[in-house]
Amino acid sequence: METPEFVDLSRPPRRALVVVAHPDDIDFGMSGTVAALTEAGAEVVYAIATSGEAGPPEDLDRSELAVLREKEQRLAAAAVGVHDVRFLGLPDGHLVADLELRHCISAVIRDVRPDLVLQQSPERRYDRIYASHPDHLAVAEATISAVYPDARNPHAHARLLAEGLEPHTVPEVWIGGLEPPDLFVDITDVFDRKVAALSSHESQVAWIDDIDGFLRNWARETTAHYGLPAGRLTEAFRRVDTA
Ligand SMILES: [Zn+2]
Repeated sequence: METPEFVDLSRPPRRALVVVAHPDDIDFGMSGTVAALTEAGAEVVYAIATSGEAGPPEDLDRSELAVLREKEQRLAAAAVGVHDVRFLGLPDGHLVADLELRHCISAVIRDVRPDLVLQQSPERRYDRIYASHPDHLAVAEATISAVYPDARNPHAHARLLAEGLEPHTVPEVWIGGLEPPDLFVDITDVFDRKVAALSSHESQVAWIDDIDGFLRNWARETTAHYGLPAGRLTEAFRRVDTA
């Protein structure tokens, strides 16, 4: 196997779209990469399927929770240079990778017209079961199906054309949490922004005593596990050529 290297972001994509199920999903696994992309000059847009209204804290009702979690997510996004956050308003805990979900995500792809999509893994992991929430699997499966073939196929979801959403081909997808990864992002220089982003989700992260240490250990383990240069902090993805 070749020696792994960090991806070169000196010529970043013009526009990237990150698609996930819940507020905070991006900020555990991908927000360092988002910060590196925006720092390199890319525009990044978030599409978040639900507003996290079925999660904790349990003393808030669903509409209060949705408002709170959207607010936290917008703060987290701003911490990594993202100012376009779109909540798709789908029901938390009820997502399935059906044609309706593919339609919703295809609409966002055709509207944003990204050069790169970042998404969660559609494969269940039995060694890290919390990463494989059914909503994550559903959004991930629907997203890769929206990238290929739906968003580029004028015959798919015909009402999108009637709404003025022209077909769009996304040439590249980075999938977080899919084994084995083959694309590594050096997040060392933007790591503080990742800590700020995750810390913005105040209602969700009280169980983590030391957010900096928690994220730093995780990123160090990734660096060591894949034999990347010691002392650097890493997020890992599987790159899929979808051109
Ligand atoms: Zn989630």
